[in-house]
Amino acid sequence: MYLKKIEIQGFKSFANKIKLDFHDGITGIVGPNGSGKSNIGDAVRWVLGEQRAKQLRGASMQDVIFAGTENRKPLSYASVSITLDNTDHSLAIDFEEVTVTRRVYRSGESEYLINGMPCRLKDIHELFYDTGIGKEGYSIIGQGQIDRILSGKPEERRELFDEAAGIVKFKRRKATAQKK
Ligand code: ATP
Ligand code: MG
Repeated sequence: MYLKKIEIQGFKSFANKIKLDFHDGITGIVGPNGSGKSNIGDAVRWVLGEQRAKQLRGASMQDVIFAGTENRKPLSYASVSITLDNTDHSLAIDFEEVTVTRRVYRSGESEYLINGMPCRLKDIHELFYDTGIGKEGYSIIGQGQIDRILSGKPEERRELFDEAAGIVKFKRRKATAQKK
C-alpha cells in the first residue's frame, strides 16, 4: 500500500484545487518558508480524522478553511482527498484503490467519504487501525513527535507498539463490548 495522490481544495493556503501525484520511492516537497509545505502534512492528518485544531496549528476547526488574502476572497469550504494504492489489500476493503475524502463547511457541517460513499468518522478510523496510517499512526512524524515518544509516559509508548503489533482494533472492540 502506498500514497498515490492528494487532492486539496480550500484547505489552509490552497485556495485553488491542487493535485499531487506520488510515485514509488521518496518524494521531497521543497519551497520557501510559509509556502505551504507543512499544510500538506496537515491536510493528510486532517483527512485521516484529526479532530484537534491544535494538532493542525489552528485555534478552531474552521481555521482549516482558506481564510482569504488581500486579493482573494475567503472560501466557504475545505476539501481534502487522499488516494491509496491497495493492490496488496493491506486495507480490509474490497477495492484496489481507496480514496478517503473529508469536507468541512463554514456552517460547521462536515462529511467523510470512502470511495465517494458517505461514511462516519468511525469507519475511517476502523479502516486504518493497525496499519500505522491513522491519525495516531506513526506514518506521519510531526515536528517534536520523536521527543514526545522518547520522553513520553510508558503507557503512551505502549500505544505505539500496540499499533505496530496490530492489536489496536481488538483493544478498541473489547472496550466497546465492555461498555455495552
Ligand atoms: P516553513 O518552511 O516555515 O515550515 P511551510 O512551507 O511549512 O513553511 P506552512 O506552515 O505550510 O508553510 O504554511 C503557512 C502559510 O499558510 C502561512 O502563510 C499562512 O498564512 C497560510 N495559511 C494557514 N492557514 C490558512 C488559511 N486558513 N487560509 C489561508 N492561508 C492560510
Ligand atoms: Mg513547515
